[in-house]
Amino acid sequence: MLLQGPAAARGLVPLVLLLALSGPAAAQPAPAATTAPSGPTPTPVAAPPDTAAPAAAPLTAPAVAPTATPAASPAPAPTPSPSPTPEPWAALQILDSAVPPGEMRRLAWRTGFGYGLVDEPVPVLVARGSSRGPTLCLTAAVHGDELNGIEIVRRVVSGIDPTALKGTVIGVPIVNVHGFQRRSRYLPDRRDLNRYFPGDPEGSLASRVAHDFFGRIIAQCEQLVDVHTGSFYRSNLPQLRADLREPAVVEMTKHFGAITVLHSSAADGTLRGAAVAAGIPAVTMEVGEPNRLQADDVALAVKGLETLLAGMEMSGKRRLWDRAQPVFYESRWVRVDRGGILFSAVELGQSVRPGDVLGTVTDPLSNVYTEITAPIAGRVLGRALNQFVMPGFAAFRIGIETTETEVAEEPPQPSDEAAAADDDQPPN
Ligand SMILES: [Zn+2]
Repeated sequence: MLLQGPAAARGLVPLVLLLALSGPAAAQPAPAATTAPSGPTPTPVAAPPDTAAPAAAPLTAPAVAPTATPAASPAPAPTPSPSPTPEPWAALQILDSAVPPGEMRRLAWRTGFGYGLVDEPVPVLVARGSSRGPTLCLTAAVHGDELNGIEIVRRVVSGIDPTALKGTVIGVPIVNVHGFQRRSRYLPDRRDLNRYFPGDPEGSLASRVAHDFFGRIIAQCEQLVDVHTGSFYRSNLPQLRADLREPAVVEMTKHFGAITVLHSSAADGTLRGAAVAAGIPAVTMEVGEPNRLQADDVALAVKGLETLLAGMEMSGKRRLWDRAQPVFYESRWVRVDRGGILFSAVELGQSVRPGDVLGTVTDPLSNVYTEITAPIAGRVLGRALNQFVMPGFAAFRIGIETTETEVAEEPPQPSDEAAAADDDQPPN
């Protein structure tokens, strides 16, 4: 009923219905049930009702039966009333707090076991809509040096009016707060948090942090957008990384306006991969480069996310796009063969044909320079910043358009280039 074309509308309705019926939206019992498998606290809460129920049932049934025997008619009366009445839309229970409908709260996630010098609280922004709807989670800075996402999440969540919102938005602008403070991509133990989801409470520090975050926050989400940037002197055209073999993920990608989509299976341990494996449709949103705040890219990403909120019918804030959404089902890295000073000759998003010069590498001592040419036709989705490079360095990522059918028939990919997609550390 809105957005880009009939395809979007066609898929949206069943998705939204499904979310409304199945999610934590179904009032109080749901959050407890959702978090129970992974979260540390809910265990005592979830267990008693289940064990108490079977014991109570046989006791009440015989007691009522004898007194009510003569009348056969009371049976139909109770049946119609409970089924059409949905559970009331109530406060969201999260992180030991309750966020009432129509309100915005700034909560804090602490692991409870402490790490780094202090157990630094991680801000969690929760907008609980005044009426029922899906739960969308936005996370950023899982890699602490990726700044664009911090501003993107802040801007999207602070732009929400919870009294006009349907559903819930949970925003975590700086997941890896210790990395952020040290301007580092990693956790204090030098591990990449985005390789340890959904985590393990008895594993490494990264595993424990991942487990706590996944169980207490991500388990509440019904859709997830995890915002990243290119890594280590690489920049990405704003784009979604999504496993287009997952129908619910495909559906989600249709609601980002004209933001480019690149099909990629998630590497093991990524937040995106773990969420999808847990039944939560998720995409990674790549925006620009680390250690920088890029105004145009941030604005584009915010617009994409606001389009998603409208597309999920969570908000009425419509954003207009003047172009179609490019979708790439395949991509390839182009590497340099000789070391030297790399200068790029193409812009992100630029279309290239085979033989087009992507950049040059000049040996600073011998003055010899070589051209890096495009081996295939496509668009530049990622590129290295100008820098000194070694032979074999992956300098450009070219998106290749293929058909949707080819993707559907594609066998599960080995963890090759696509699997390394989320942080742009190309494989060896
Ligand atoms: Zn990242």
